[in-house]
Amino acid sequence: MKVQTVSFEQAGVLAKQFFESPQWGRFVHEGTKPAYTNREKQENVEWAKVNNNKHCAVCLNMNGCCLPVDVIENKMKFPFHENCHCYVVPANNLEITAESPLPKFEGYVFNPEYMHNGKNELFWEWGFVKEDSASLCAELANQAQKSYADVDFKLGKLDAYGQRIDIRVKLQRRNKFEEVSFISGWMLYPDGKIILATPYGGK
Ligand SMILES: [Zn+2]
Repeated sequence: MKVQTVSFEQAGVLAKQFFESPQWGRFVHEGTKPAYTNREKQENVEWAKVNNNKHCAVCLNMNGCCLPVDVIENKMKFPFHENCHCYVVPANNLEITAESPLPKFEGYVFNPEYMHNGKNELFWEWGFVKEDSASLCAELANQAQKSYADVDFKLGKLDAYGQRIDIRVKLQRRNKFEEVSFISGWMLYPDGKIILATPYGGK
């Protein structure tokens, strides 16, 4: 018989990893491909209309998306609807990623056309300019990735496009020694990925 000896130190580390990482689950809608892009989500929304909701857009677009099991069980209404055939499987070795598309800042927040949208104006007020777009994207993605992985988020709106989550982010102002904090809105995508939907969603 082979006995594996584990030192207390190792056991401590093992226990810590085990207890501190929550179990994540992946939504499965059998027979369809997960939507990896906004365009594919849009196609699912259109397809659901055409097929008379035989396959509903919510389920098609949640296919492959991942959340902690505790959140699914206690904070969501799941199954999504009556006769929903979706189910949840354990998502092991999940790689959590967050993506913040450059056009959200370059083409929207810092677009003079939308600048008088009160939310976008805030970024100008804090001293940021269009040239900061790439670093703002990187900063937001970095913070959101950590918060999503640490389950430090609130569930936002669930609709035909899928589930949004709200994540609090902090930025250092460019024109004043002051930190600002606000809520940004992210859309769930398959395989533990989130993509920035709303740079500034509220205080
Ligand atoms: Zn379903």
